[in-house]
Amino acid sequence: MIVVTDETPLLRAENLTKYYDSSGGFLDSLLGNSQDVKAVDGVDLELYEGETLGVVGESGCGKSTLARALLRLVEPTDGSVYFQQRVEEDGEPAGRREVDLTTVSSDDLRDLRTDLQYIFQDPFSSLNPRLTVGDIIGEPLDIHDIATGDERTERIYELLETVGLNPSHTHRYPHEFSGGQRQRIGIARALAVDPEVIVCDEPVSALDVSVQAQILNLLEDLQDELGLSYIFIAHDLSVVEHISDRIAVMYLGEFAEVGSTDEVFSPPYHPYTEALLSAIPEPDPLWEGDQIFLPGTVPSPLDPPSGCRFHTRCPQIIQPAAYDLEQDVWRSVVDLKLRVKDAETLESIATVPDETPADDATSRTSIRELPSAQFESVIRSEYDLPTELSDSSAERALSQAIDELYEDNVTGATARLDDAFTSPCEKHHPEPAQTGTNHRIACLLQDERYDGDRFEAVDADSGSGSDNAVADD
Ligand code: ADP
Ligand code: MG
Repeated sequence: MIVVTDETPLLRAENLTKYYDSSGGFLDSLLGNSQDVKAVDGVDLELYEGETLGVVGESGCGKSTLARALLRLVEPTDGSVYFQQRVEEDGEPAGRREVDLTTVSSDDLRDLRTDLQYIFQDPFSSLNPRLTVGDIIGEPLDIHDIATGDERTERIYELLETVGLNPSHTHRYPHEFSGGQRQRIGIARALAVDPEVIVCDEPVSALDVSVQAQILNLLEDLQDELGLSYIFIAHDLSVVEHISDRIAVMYLGEFAEVGSTDEVFSPPYHPYTEALLSAIPEPDPLWEGDQIFLPGTVPSPLDPPSGCRFHTRCPQIIQPAAYDLEQDVWRSVVDLKLRVKDAETLESIATVPDETPADDATSRTSIRELPSAQFESVIRSEYDLPTELSDSSAERALSQAIDELYEDNVTGATARLDDAFTSPCEKHHPEPAQTGTNHRIACLLQDERYDGDRFEAVDADSGSGSDNAVADD
C-alpha cells in the first residue's frame, strides 16, 4: 500500500483537456458547423512512484482519450502533464527533472517514450500481423537504438521469458497465439525500453476471466520486480479493485471521485461510484446494499448535461429545498421533465401499453388518442409516478404540466416543469470536495458551498419554482 504523502508525483496532470472536433470536414468548418466532443474536460491527476492508479467508468466516459492525452498520443486541447524524468550524467543516475509533456519538442517526446509506455486494450489488433514476435518486441529497441545484433536477440529472449512466454516462439506470428499470449507480447514490447510508467488501457477487457487473472498477476509481479507505476484503465470496478492503490472514477470527461481503494470502496460515496460498486457481479464483501440501476447510457460529450454531468441519471439528485418528496419519486419527476424537454413529439414521451382496455374497439397506437384520464395514468405509470405527489404544490405543477401535454402543448409543459422542478444539480458544477486526506468527491452532496439552506440562497434568484423557496440569510 502506497502511503501518499507530499512527495512529488512521478506524473501529474493539471486541467488536462481533450476536445475532438466533430465537424465532418473542411466544408463543415467553413460553415461553422464544427462542434467540440468534450471527451476529457479538465482532469487533475497524480501518479506516484511504484503505485497503480485505477481509472474506471462506463464505456464512452473518456478513459482512452485521457490515457492518450496523458502520453500525448493525442494532442491535448488544454492543460499540462508534468513528468519527473530520470537524468543521467556519464551513464550514472543523477536525479530527476520536471518536464511538461504537453510542451516538449517532438525529439524530446520521442526520448520520453522510453519512460512512458502504453498497453492497448485489444491484443488482436494492436500487434502488426506481418511481423514476427521477435520483431514486434525488437522494434522499440531499434527505434530507440537500445540494442543490436546478439544483444538485441538476447534482450528479446529475456523479455519473452519475463512475460511468461517461450523464447523459442520468437519467429512466430501474432495469429499463432491466444488472446492472453498476445497481451503478454504487448507487455513485453512495452517493457523493452525499460519504462517507468505504463498506461494500461483495458488490457484484460477482451480476455476470458481466467486469463484476466493471469495477466493481472503478471502485471503485479512486474511492478514489484521493476518498480513500475501503472495507470490501469477498466470499465469495471472489480477489475481494478485488487491491483489499484488508488482509484479515479471517471464520468463524462471528468473525475467524479479519486481516493485510495479503501476510501473509494467505503462511504461517503459519489453516487456514480455507488452505482458502479453495487453492480459488481459477485457481491463484494464491502458492499451491502442492493444493486443500483442506472438508466440509459453515458450522455453525448458533444453537449454534456449542465451543472453536474451525472444529474440526468443520478439516483441521489437533490430536490429543491421547498419539496420533501420520496427520493425515487423525485427522480421520476426529473426523468419526466428531461424527457419532455427533449421530446419532439408526444409519442416520444410515453407509449400506449399493450394491454388495451376491453371497451377499446380501435387499437390506439398513440397517447394523443387517449381520453384525458387515461392519458394521465399512462404518463404517470410510464415514469413510475404515484397518482398524487405528496407535496401539494409539486402535485399542482405536475398535473398542470400533464394537462398541457394532453393539449399537445409540449413547450408549455417544458416551461412549467422547468420552473417547478429544477435541481441545484442542474445549475451548479460540483467542485471536488476533500472528504479524506487524499479523497476527493465531486458531488454537491459533499460540497459545503451548497450546504443545506444555502442551496436556497444560491438558487433563489434563478427561481427554483416553488413559492416557498426563499433565501433566508
Ligand atoms: P472510453 O475509453 O471511456 O470508452 P473514449 O475516450 O474512447 O472513452 O471516448 C470518449 C468520447 O470521445 C466518446 O464519446 C467517443 O465517441 C469520443 N471520441 C473518441 N475518439 C474520438 C475521435 N477521434 N473523434 C471524435 N470523438 C471521439
Ligand atoms: Mg476506451
